[in-house]
Amino acid sequence: MPLSEFDIIAKYFGSRSARSDVSLGIGDDAAILNVPAGRKLVLAMDTVVEGVHFPSGTPAQDVGHRALAVNLSDLAAMGAEPSWMSLSLSLPEADETWLEQFARGLFALADAHKVALIGGDTVRGPLVVTIQVGGWIEPDHYLLRSGARAGDGLYVSGVPGEAAAGLALIRAHAAADRSAQHLKSRFLRPEPRVALGRALRTIASAAMDVSDGLLADLEKLCAASGCGARVQVEALPRSPAMQARFDEPTCLRYALTGGDDYELLFTVTPANEAVLHAGTLAGVEVARIGTITAEPGVRCFRGDQELVLERSGYDHFALR
Ligand code: ADP
Ligand code: MG
Repeated sequence: MPLSEFDIIAKYFGSRSARSDVSLGIGDDAAILNVPAGRKLVLAMDTVVEGVHFPSGTPAQDVGHRALAVNLSDLAAMGAEPSWMSLSLSLPEADETWLEQFARGLFALADAHKVALIGGDTVRGPLVVTIQVGGWIEPDHYLLRSGARAGDGLYVSGVPGEAAAGLALIRAHAAADRSAQHLKSRFLRPEPRVALGRALRTIASAAMDVSDGLLADLEKLCAASGCGARVQVEALPRSPAMQARFDEPTCLRYALTGGDDYELLFTVTPANEAVLHAGTLAGVEVARIGTITAEPGVRCFRGDQELVLERSGYDHFALR
């Protein structure tokens, strides 16, 4: 007998993680939360669609991890502490093996960040996962895209480009050597930079997460801040795994325009740069890749030589 919607919820998503700030979780018409006194509630939502955001046939455990990771990344970019999530699941069929693996991937990441599932919706349809995450921030210490000013240092965490390189290898059904394994997992299992975002609350002047590509997202940060940026490509973190599989121009293209990294892009005032030593922050490598300029627009340089690049991040509605 196929599982009913009720059975699916009870078996795979029923109340598990208790948090004292959940007054009422799954089971009624809506959830009720206790937002800690003196905190602001932060909400973000992201949808992943099979065939659009991840290839058909992606292991269910990775789908579960990634659907939550992209959401936690948005909270990280605000400097927020994640607390709750709700899950809207559209499934073609009640495949128990798939559900079990999906729940495993989802809850492994949720438990690691002490995020409680407080409700959702379950429907039949194409494979689409929508998660809304909630968390909280201290009223005076959060990170916006709009805080960058001319003279600020520009930083990125991790190794941008690896996720896009990994997706290309997945699509090409590339042989799984160590480099390919590493790159593929950067796409399938991004690590949301929650601890880094928390650490940056008092250090960064602006922040956002990189989902559409470094340059495309940097342009958004600059537009929000009313400034521009100069990127030094020789300062971009090197990826031995990417270099093992792709030539130099392709590595550079992935680093600058590849999406799906879910790293943090952030700016730091000169005064704070004196205390932030590029290197490791909250357990993550961060690199200084350029500076914020008064002149609008994002420009890339190698040394003093300006690079002219065909610019493209991912835009769902762009003509191509
Ligand atoms: P309604 O009749 O209001 O649509 P549902 O039968 O869809 O309610 O849901 C019953 C309960 O199960 C609600 O508390 C809802 O939040 C929860 N729920 C439904 N789907 C999910 C899911 N995929 N994950 C977690 N909770 C869910
Ligand atoms: Mg109801």
